[in-house]
Amino acid sequence: MSRIAYVNGAYVRHSDAGVHIEDRGFQFADAVYEVCEVRKGLIVDLTRHLDRLDRSLRELRMAHPMGRDALTVVIREVLRRNHVRHGMFYLQVSRGAAKRDHFFPSADTVPTLVITAKSTDPSVMLRKYETGIKVITLAENRWDRVDIKTVGLLPNVLAKQQAKEAGAQDAIYIDRNGIVMEGASSNVWIVAADGTLVTRPAEYGILRGITRTTLLDVAAALKIAVEEREFSRDEMLAAREVFFTSATGSCTPIVSIDGKPVANGHPGSVAANIRDAFFEIAEKTAI
Ligand code: PMP
Repeated sequence: MSRIAYVNGAYVRHSDAGVHIEDRGFQFADAVYEVCEVRKGLIVDLTRHLDRLDRSLRELRMAHPMGRDALTVVIREVLRRNHVRHGMFYLQVSRGAAKRDHFFPSADTVPTLVITAKSTDPSVMLRKYETGIKVITLAENRWDRVDIKTVGLLPNVLAKQQAKEAGAQDAIYIDRNGIVMEGASSNVWIVAADGTLVTRPAEYGILRGITRTTLLDVAAALKIAVEEREFSRDEMLAAREVFFTSATGSCTPIVSIDGKPVANGHPGSVAANIRDAFFEIAEKTAI
């Protein structure tokens, strides 16, 4: 079965899909994106993801490729044509193809829209949740507008590769004052000694994860106390539990940081309980 992608108005075979070589996404990373989870044939948190897309486009003064209803139709169609029941869709909007010049192109330049989808094996994620993952920490070295979900992900790519070469699966950015920022593709949470969930504020310096926002709803429903405040690498190393959230990683336990075990070195129960309640509470949109 061949995969199908949507590129600028056409559904094309994934292997044949392409954009212009002077696309501003390709030339300048002048593009934004979203990734959304699909579970049990339902799209998770679609409204929040499309709201964040609107914000990213607005912050970069980029034109919207199409209205929300039309976009939702296309997303559904891509998922349908790829027979995705468990997996994700990826959506990228660039400022379009134009003669290479740093300045914004003329206002009539049509934004590029690419949507792809893929199925994933839920049992692979389940295994990850059961064993937890190892991470490394590294100095924050990204531009300071990481609140916009841009495709300028080179520092994140280098961070993940560094983690892999150190025998870990992911990385956490630490600022120059020793404060935890976020993961290379996720937000970071800790469970403090008294059971309070702690995650840093998302006003600046991190991407406001959709899973993070929905997890605040989940914590409220489960009556778990939450504090949105900064915490240091040292506080994280001493925490009862540490976990990541992201659309495709749900709530992933971290069991080792820079080679040191988190608590007893096994995934904790708070992350597991939250994960169990998450799908129930998140918005679900039929494909
Ligand atoms: N931070 C970064 C840097 C990310 O790339 C992501 C998602 N890929 C997140 C946080 C989590 O965001 P979401 O929950 O919307 O997937």
